[in-house]
Amino acid sequence: MKKAVIILLSVMVFFTGASVAAQDELVVYSARKEHLIKDLFGQYEKETGVKVTYITGKAAVLLQRILSEGEGTKADILLTVDAGNLWHAAQKGVLEPVNSPVLSANIPAHYRDPANMWFGLSVRARTIVYNTNKVTPGDLSSYEALAGADWHKRLLLRTSKKVYNQSLVAMLIETLGREKTETIVKGWVNNLAAPPYSSDTKVLEALAAGQGDVGVVNTYYYGRLMKKNPDLPLGIFWADQAGSGVHVNVSGAGVVKYSGNTAQAVKFLEWLSGKDAQKVFADANMEYPVNTSVTPHDFVKGWGDFKENRINLTKAGELQAEAIKLMDMAGYK
Ligand code: FE
Repeated sequence: MKKAVIILLSVMVFFTGASVAAQDELVVYSARKEHLIKDLFGQYEKETGVKVTYITGKAAVLLQRILSEGEGTKADILLTVDAGNLWHAAQKGVLEPVNSPVLSANIPAHYRDPANMWFGLSVRARTIVYNTNKVTPGDLSSYEALAGADWHKRLLLRTSKKVYNQSLVAMLIETLGREKTETIVKGWVNNLAAPPYSSDTKVLEALAAGQGDVGVVNTYYYGRLMKKNPDLPLGIFWADQAGSGVHVNVSGAGVVKYSGNTAQAVKFLEWLSGKDAQKVFADANMEYPVNTSVTPHDFVKGWGDFKENRINLTKAGELQAEAIKLMDMAGYK
């Protein structure tokens, strides 16, 4: 009798213990690098007692890992960059819809999935940069204009294999139409001063070295390089201000369908979209907060205000395959 009670008690303790551990711990699979999340996640643990552990890796690898782990995955949240990747994760069926009035209030609609599968958490613009010794802002206007004869052998681009450019071209297709976008991309290829580079930073370095006059990069890469070397002859220009606005994109997250801890995962996302976390999350990578009640870092604010293209970012995913095909046909490597 006594023995049976002890066994029963220890079974109860075991189950209670297990459920407490699950309630108080979250696992994030993060394509955002460790130095950009470590302190913030630690802050959440301090405030709430919920331990946030994470693994980092490339977006495609993490998605594949969740797919192969299936129900056995430890991941509660997938955190990644670019709406194209978030959309892809949702398409693959690894995310679950989250209905949260907090997330809807904190995050403008065009930065999140209308089906609530994923939510943008920081904003970056993909815009025009130029060599200040060779170009003045008055020479610049739009992505489209970079396809014109004025820019022959003056343009530097990153490879079309990068999702950032796939999303940019997808948004051009949505905004300007397929035919016009094909003409633009062909014009870009024709205007290249060098073969496409493997990273935005390489585009900026080549631009500063005078290997080209104008390029297209994400704002935080410009910020990083200028912070390290403020004397570089590089300027930033907001594209398409007379048209639909500059192409913006996000880093963002969704709750993994197999999470056994959905409520806690949602709370964490809500916290990340809130004022305090937004400041840290955006500033860490010189990005813009998604939450418009939070102001960007002074350094970022110094680049000036801009009009952004407010088309919902799901379009970056929906038109991704078409964008890839178009770039391939236009000879954009
Ligand atoms: Fe990046």
